[in-house]
Amino acid sequence: MMMRVEIPASSDTPGPKRFWDRNELRRISDRFENAWPEEVLHWSLETFGSDVAMATGFGPSGVALMHMLSRVDSSATVFYLDTDLLFPETHDLKRRLAERFGLTFTRVHSGISLPEQARQESADLWRSNPDRCCLIRKVLPLRRFLSTREAWITGIRRDQSPTRGTIGIVHWDEANGLVKINPLANWSEEQIWQYIQINDLPYNPLHDSGFPSLGCIPCTKPVDAGEDARAGRWKGHDKLECGIHVQEDILVQEEIPVQEDILVLENEGAYRKTA
Ligand code: SF4
Repeated sequence: MMMRVEIPASSDTPGPKRFWDRNELRRISDRFENAWPEEVLHWSLETFGSDVAMATGFGPSGVALMHMLSRVDSSATVFYLDTDLLFPETHDLKRRLAERFGLTFTRVHSGISLPEQARQESADLWRSNPDRCCLIRKVLPLRRFLSTREAWITGIRRDQSPTRGTIGIVHWDEANGLVKINPLANWSEEQIWQYIQINDLPYNPLHDSGFPSLGCIPCTKPVDAGEDARAGRWKGHDKLECGIHVQEDILVQEEIPVQEDILVLENEGAYRKTA
């Protein structure tokens, strides 16, 4: 019988430290529509200081944005969600980017090992219930990490999928309760690859082997000719997003409280409990 990972209720509900008027954010976003992404990054760091962090999954947009960020402030916090299921090529790219850009990556982890997940939920949860697997390994750790910030920066773009088609450059993130900044929202895939080529930036070699979008190993397949870039993600499942970039509150939908003792690995160093 399938068991469930115990996720105890949190007493401190994550929330914003500063109130941001949605209209004000919309005006800021509109102002940035014709701005170079580095201007947006400058504004982000000036406005939020160390309370802003950039998320990356080490895709092409993330590579371009990290290059820009490193030129603005290489000490800025850049974090990634380690699901324990990333491709070896992704870890190798991380090492090369750290060396090239002088960035230090913060690893954010669920605190739940794969054997523990298999024992408490089911083996291959990504096959039987990928939403639940993403919730445990991505959405909850992300929420916990973001609860300590006022804003986050991402490399997502409007042309990546219909679910991202209307994102602002700056907007309020309803699901996580903080400001979300997408400096590349209005860039195209072609612009990203031009930027990478012009600046001779490293990228994941799997992109040259039919994997335009990379996530976890069990949920990423090559795409066929004519398919959109994210068609290889969760192939065979009616699932388009892992849940970290949706605006609806997935925790409310599923009535699952935030875990209290998610572990965060700071700067590839020792684990610390954030509870
Ligand atoms: S992408 Fe797949 S393996 Fe990774 S967390 Fe989601 S369901 Fe699990």
